[in-house]
Order: sequence, then structure tokens, then C-alpha cells
Amino acid sequence: MTQESTSQRHFQVAIVGGGAAGIAVAARLLKKRPNLSVGIIEPSGHHYYQPGWTLVGGGIFSANETRREQRRCIPVGAQWLRERAQSFEPEHNRLRLAGGGRVGYDMLVVCPGLQLDWHRVEGLEEALGTGGVTSNYRFDLAPYTWECIQAYRGGPALFTQPAMPIKCAGAPQKILYLAADYWRQAGVEADLRFCVQGGAMFGIPLFAEALEQVARGYGAAIDYGNDLVAVDPGRKVASFARADGERVERPYELLHVVPPQSAPEFIKASPLAGAAGWVDVDRQTLQHTRFANIFALGDVTGTPNAKTAAAVRQQAPVVVANLLGAMAGKALRARYDGYGACPLTTARGRVMLAEFAYDGVVTPSFPGDPTRERRSYWYLKKLVFPSLYWDVMLQGYVVRWPRHRPLGTAAAARPAAGAR
Ligand SMILES: Cc1cc2nc3c(=O)[nH]c(=O)nc-3n(C[C@H](O)[C@H](O)[C@H](O)COP(=O)(O)OP(=O)(O)OC[C@H]3O[C@@H](n4cnc5c(N)ncnc54)[C@H](O)[C@@H]3O)c2cc1C
Repeated sequence: MTQESTSQRHFQVAIVGGGAAGIAVAARLLKKRPNLSVGIIEPSGHHYYQPGWTLVGGGIFSANETRREQRRCIPVGAQWLRERAQSFEPEHNRLRLAGGGRVGYDMLVVCPGLQLDWHRVEGLEEALGTGGVTSNYRFDLAPYTWECIQAYRGGPALFTQPAMPIKCAGAPQKILYLAADYWRQAGVEADLRFCVQGGAMFGIPLFAEALEQVARGYGAAIDYGNDLVAVDPGRKVASFARADGERVERPYELLHVVPPQSAPEFIKASPLAGAAGWVDVDRQTLQHTRFANIFALGDVTGTPNAKTAAAVRQQAPVVVANLLGAMAGKALRARYDGYGACPLTTARGRVMLAEFAYDGVVTPSFPGDPTRERRSYWYLKKLVFPSLYWDVMLQGYVVRWPRHRPLGTAAAARPAAGAR
């Protein structure tokens, strides 16, 4: 691995974003073609295991367990440009960097993740990190979530979920359950409320119904069609826009916020974007619909799968196979089926493992009722998945086990509010 300063460069494969997707693709490409010139454009000095932030907020992991130095993650043989990509010129096979340089490429992989739109909730940015207002969606705030949970002695505890799509659609309610379980064990009487912009607990009805039971089991009120629009930390009041057009104010003692999310601005403004701003790729081959030498994966795509690291694990080998096929002038044979997974921490020591593919098809890896909360899945979440991430996916390996098997759509007819 080398770190390059900004200059005019050319790579056979340029990768925008060195998060879960960028590193997984780079590592796999170099496993298959060690002599390929691969450049990773990534501004951050650290790499984050974001799925661990739920467990940081729940007091199970320390924040540092979810962070590594980026230089340790960049695969051997790849060149790291510690820069921010700013704009694309796909007709000239090059892109521009925020520092002024240009990067030329034969093939481009676009995976800068998504953008957290904190600013779209009035007063939120100033409120975060003090007075009981927190979010597991930021590395620096997840430990504060745990502080707030421990300090809570009663009063309204609000947990919010914005409009879809968001990354890890289950994360807004996972922390509700971990907090509720902790308070129950500690004998603290909690006043719990889950405020959801959409009309269901999750995008797949089978899991939505099971999760509603979990929430009700903790005595949590569920407000569907309630979108957080403002926070007033002085009065400790959160304001919600309701589906019927009314605005409702709710006092809080603890407020866990999941912010609205969208495609990064430089993607929205680029020729790579589709109508909703996300990168426009074929949902199976992950090749751009207009530029044949561009592929995208991860949270930035407009494909209708759940935005998860589990999806990236399935997408990365598809992108690598098809990109190498395209370079060799061959047909694209690899297909992504829309797989995504969400390990829903329903208590400390219990997880419901939601796995599904495109069009709401439920695809469990293990036999039995997929809505059952299991201790064994807790160990998957706590021990196996982090290792699968750092030691397998980011090293360019592909796990063939467990294989998910389609169970059918399991009444997928309701409007999506969880996975999309
Ligand atoms: C609280 C939380 C809980 C989650 N739980 C789970 C879970 O249980 N299971 C699961 O599978 N997934 C979970 N996820 C989702 C998962 O982390 C993401 O889906 C995954 O990280 C997406 O990978 P990505 O590479 O697309 O984006 P990221 O991993 O976010 O990486 C994007 C990278 O692009 C870089 N970048 C941004 N802008 C630019 C630019 N202009 N130029 C160059 N680089 C740029 C960023 O610095 C970053 O390194 C969770 C996420 C959160 C926040």
C-alpha cells in the first residue's frame, strides 16, 4: 500500500470510496489480478465497522473496537489517494478531486456510501451530544447513547426513524430494544416511544409483524407516520410532522435520532445519478446503465435492496467478476439477487436475523422460523459478523457458507418502510 499526494494519475481501476464496498472490491480484484493498477480515492484516515455502532450504543462494544487505521485496510498493491472525489467526466474516463487533481481510469467503481442529512432536522446539529440527544449513526456519539441509557431514570424516551431509504433500516429500533432490555433488567420504569416516518416497522411484512410484537412486549408506543422535523434542546421538545399534515410536539428525556439520508451531493450533481440522485446501475450486474466501464455498489446505488454491509458482501464479488469480464470484452455473467441482512438485536443476548432479497423474498441462511429471536444469532452478531467483515470481506475472500435459500415472498404486499 502506498499513499499518494494529489497529482494527475491513471489507473486501470479507480475506486471512489474506501469503506466496506471499496476495500472489499479492491482486495478481491488484487487477489484475482495482482498486477492490476488499482487506485482508491478515500479521504478518511480511519475505516469504521458501522454495524458495530449499535453494540457501542448498547454498551457491548467500545467505540475503538469498530475503528481501524485506514492504512491497515488498504490492500497490498493498491494505491491510496487520500483525497475526496468531487466530480465525474465519464465521457473522458476521468474524475476530478476536491484538491484540484484529476484521475484517469479504464474502469471506475463508485462506492462513497450515503450522506447523513442532519441539517434537515431543525436544531438537531446543535442539540446532538448533550442533554440526552444522541445517535448511533455517528462514531463519536454512539458512546454517548450508552451514557444516556445508563443515566436515564424515567420520562419520555423517544427513538426516531426517518423516511427510507436509510442504511441499516433496522438500526433505529435495535437500540430501542437494547435500551428497553437494559432498563427492564435495572428495574427502571421506562416511557418508550418509537416514532416512524413510514407505515410499518420493517419493509418485509413477515418481520414487520414480529417486530411490532417485540416493541409492544416492551410496552413501547409506536407512532407511524411521524417524521422528526425539529429539536428544541432548551425546552427538551421534539417536533414531528405527521402524515395527516399536523405537527405534534413531544417532550423527551432521552432522544435517539436517526437522521434523514440521501445520496452524497457530488453524486446527485453528477451524470452518474438517476432521478432520485443515487448511482444508476443495473440491479443484477451492478454495471452503470449508461457508462459500460462504470460499476457501483454499496449504499450509493439506486438498486432496491437494503443498504447493508451484508449486501456489500454479496455485491463485491459480482462487481469484480463483471468488471474483469468487461475489461476482457466478455459478457457479464455474475448476478446480484438483492440479498441483504439485518441482525435485529431484540435484547442483550437475543437477535432476530432478517435476511431477504429483491422483491421481498425472505432468504434465511438457517432452518426454522426466520422471525424467531435466538441466542445463537446474538453470537453471530457479536463475534462472527465483525470477523467476517475484517478478516474475510475486506481481505477479498468470499464465503460460500451459509447459503441463503429463498422461502418465497412471505406476504410482501405491504408498502415498504424498512428495507427497500
Ligand atoms: C448504526 C449503523 C448500524 C448498522 N448496522 C448494520 C448491520 O447490522 N448489518 C449490516 O450489514 N449493515 C449495517 N449497517 C450498514 C453498513 O455499515 C453500510 O451499509 C455499509 O458500510 C455500506 O458500505 P459502503 O462502502 O457503501 O459505505 P461506507 O462503508 O459508509 O463507506 C463509504 C466511504 O466513502 C468515503 N467517501 C465519502 N465521500 C467520498 C468522496 N467524495 N470521495 C471519496 N471517498 C468518499 C467515506 O469516507 C467512506 O470511507 C449499519 C450502519 C449504521 C450507521
